[in-house]
Amino acid sequence: MNSDERREQIAQNLAAVRERIAAACAAAGRDPSSVTLVAITKTYPAADVVHLAQLGVRDVGENRDQDAAPKAAEVAAALAEAAAPTWHFVGQLQRNKCRSVVGYADVVHSVDSVRLVRALATAAAAGRERPLEALVQVSLDGDLDRGGAALATDDPDRSFDRVAEAIAGSSGLRLAGVMAVAPLSVNPLAAFASLAGVAERLLKDHPSATIISAGMSGDLAEAIANGATHVRIGSALLGNRPPLR
Ligand SMILES: *Cc1c(COP(=O)(O)O)cnc(C)c1O
Repeated sequence: MNSDERREQIAQNLAAVRERIAAACAAAGRDPSSVTLVAITKTYPAADVVHLAQLGVRDVGENRDQDAAPKAAEVAAALAEAAAPTWHFVGQLQRNKCRSVVGYADVVHSVDSVRLVRALATAAAAGRERPLEALVQVSLDGDLDRGGAALATDDPDRSFDRVAEAIAGSSGLRLAGVMAVAPLSVNPLAAFASLAGVAERLLKDHPSATIISAGMSGDLAEAIANGATHVRIGSALLGNRPPLR
């Protein structure tokens, strides 16, 4: 497939995704402008990010720093600064990668431990002018090996409240909201309803923590029905990824 054909394919996928978002918003009585599409470009090349940006997608996300850092640099070189997308980091993040991630990402969706908050805050204070937007990733099934902070846990490092307070108390970070991935074992509507409850509770103490990052290619409607402000869409835009990457 040449570049023009690829762009046309992505354009068609994008139109279909935008239609699904609009339909879900209509069903929920919400304005489509209240939902931000974050295109998840993992495993796909920088050229696809450039296509997406030129098709009007302003937000892109990645889950591995090793792939994202060179890709972000390639995209920055290919586009004028005004056309460059905002990068979101959505994957499990190791503390030794924070310095790199804060160099290109403006939003980290996957903050799930107090130790990670400390590392991100140090990196952001040293490496950025603007604060980094940080979302607390919520574990909806308590399986902390799969990422996320828990509402009830014996491990203070992984406690949702402690992670949120640590972000709020860090000058290099801005507590922007919550994120979750629906567990395989739970109905996505029920999972995202419980995330909405967590978001509402956080908002009481932190009125500017308004982001709810929820919903992927398979469950964006369920997420939008439960107040998602950001949907993270990969395969529906760019195609099915090969397994294990
Ligand atoms: C890959 C990924 C997505 C996108 O998943 P699709 O099913 O391809 O839309 C969303 N969120 C996270 C955290 C991911 O790793």
